[in-house]
Amino acid sequence: MQVTLVNYTPNPELTIVAAARSSASQSTIEELWHNLSPQQIDDLLKQLLDSGHLSPFEHSSFTFNIQGISRATSHQLVRHRLASYTQQSQRYVALKERRYVTPPTITKQADFLAKYQRAMESAHELYSQMLEANIPAEDARYVLPQAVETQLVMTMNARELVHACSLRLCLRAQWEIVELFERLKAEVERVAPRLGAELKPKCYRLGYCDERESCGIFPTLKSETKTK
Ligand SMILES: Cc1cc2nc3c(=O)[nH]c(=O)nc-3n(C[C@H](O)[C@H](O)[C@H](O)COP(=O)(O)OP(=O)(O)OC[C@H]3O[C@@H](n4cnc5c(N)ncnc54)[C@H](O)[C@@H]3O)c2cc1C
Repeated sequence: MQVTLVNYTPNPELTIVAAARSSASQSTIEELWHNLSPQQIDDLLKQLLDSGHLSPFEHSSFTFNIQGISRATSHQLVRHRLASYTQQSQRYVALKERRYVTPPTITKQADFLAKYQRAMESAHELYSQMLEANIPAEDARYVLPQAVETQLVMTMNARELVHACSLRLCLRAQWEIVELFERLKAEVERVAPRLGAELKPKCYRLGYCDERESCGIFPTLKSETKTK
């Protein structure tokens, strides 16, 4: 899996904070822009998140190139509706390389790994044969597994990044999408370290786990009440 930040709003943290400040000020965003210290930016970002004043986060957007994730994971990703996606088409692009994702639980079991690899090869073989027989790629693709690799471009604003990370960095989410969001977070941290640090699983903000079972970082409310 490869995740690269290819474009983003310049000064993404300042943009959010100056926009937020302008809502309660006589000054314009341009005037506020030059008068905010790094400490004020830090404090204001936290305040906005704590108070749930999240609309200013919509002013900063991030565009990522995402490669080598499975279709199983891209399907989960695009459920986040408040983002823009452009995914490589399986209608217009014939998949010449046999690239697929293997979950670590399967890699660990030699017997199943061999069977899994054979199943992938066999699906890809049939796919290639159908293309050679002039069956259109849009139809031949029906035989491809969910493991097949895909690539896409995604643009997400900071508000949706905070929200999606709260769900997808949770260790109860599926491993591949957790890894994807860890990489998205790392890319944001490179250019916006304060904002990046605020991309965290929901339990860090709640102070407890709201899943049925906790991963161990925070207890569920139920287990907390039991111990009291
Ligand atoms: C661990 C996990 C397991 C999951 N399992 C399943 C599953 O088994 N089956 C399944 O179908 N899905 C599953 N999902 C997907 C989940 O139901 C959501 O579709 C996905 O997480 C997108 O998040 P979201 O709904 O918050 O919306 P986003 O698209 O990220 O939108 C962000 C926020 O905008 C608001 N919003 C967006 N669109 C609307 C709208 N039309 N109306 C009102 N408010 C809106 C909501 O407040 C929403 O929270 C799972 C997700 C996770 C994290």
